[in-house]
Amino acid sequence: MKKHLLFLGPPGAGKGTQAAVVSKDNSYLHLSTGDLLRKEIELNSDLGNQVKDIMNKGQLVNDNLVLEIVKKNLHKNNKGWILDGYPRNLSQVDSLNKVLINLNQPLEIVFYLDVPDEVLIKRLLSRGRKDDNEKTIKTRLKIYKETTEPLIEYYKELSLLEYIKADEDLKTVSDDIKYKMA
Ligand code: ADP
Repeated sequence: MKKHLLFLGPPGAGKGTQAAVVSKDNSYLHLSTGDLLRKEIELNSDLGNQVKDIMNKGQLVNDNLVLEIVKKNLHKNNKGWILDGYPRNLSQVDSLNKVLINLNQPLEIVFYLDVPDEVLIKRLLSRGRKDDNEKTIKTRLKIYKETTEPLIEYYKELSLLEYIKADEDLKTVSDDIKYKMA
């Protein structure tokens, strides 16, 4: 059973939903940088106030802020973990590589959840989160294509990438992931 997983894919691909299912089934830590940032906003913390406007516009939060969150939450001796929403650009990949070398916990599988654009937009519009309006979705998809999508090729070259056809129903997708991580 692989223990150190990364879920990659566009906004609305279902990374958060699938990571929650798979981490619960295996008692893994589910580390979603988006969830952790939203929690900071809810708490009205300094960090939350710093990132609120950026997130509502659908832009990426500063790399160092997100790195601090990741470092705080990834520990030694975890049973296993799923990173969801991190890394999102090549500089975050570099930082993550360093963190994982220190922890001696190399990434074992990167699941790429693929969903066509038109399905993504429909899903996001029906979800109704604060950053799920048409303008912000457009920004998020653009940033995804420009800065996050190159990571697919990066992990493919390292032979870590597993392709998941993610425009299927929830269980079909999680069964596929579980089969491939076994
Ligand atoms: P989604 O990817 O489905 O849009 P997330 O919850 O993963 O939703 O992310 C929501 C927002 O949180 C992003 O638009 C961005 O502003 C911020 N965010 C999350 N993860 C990162 C990250 N790794 N680097 C920078 N910003 C991030």
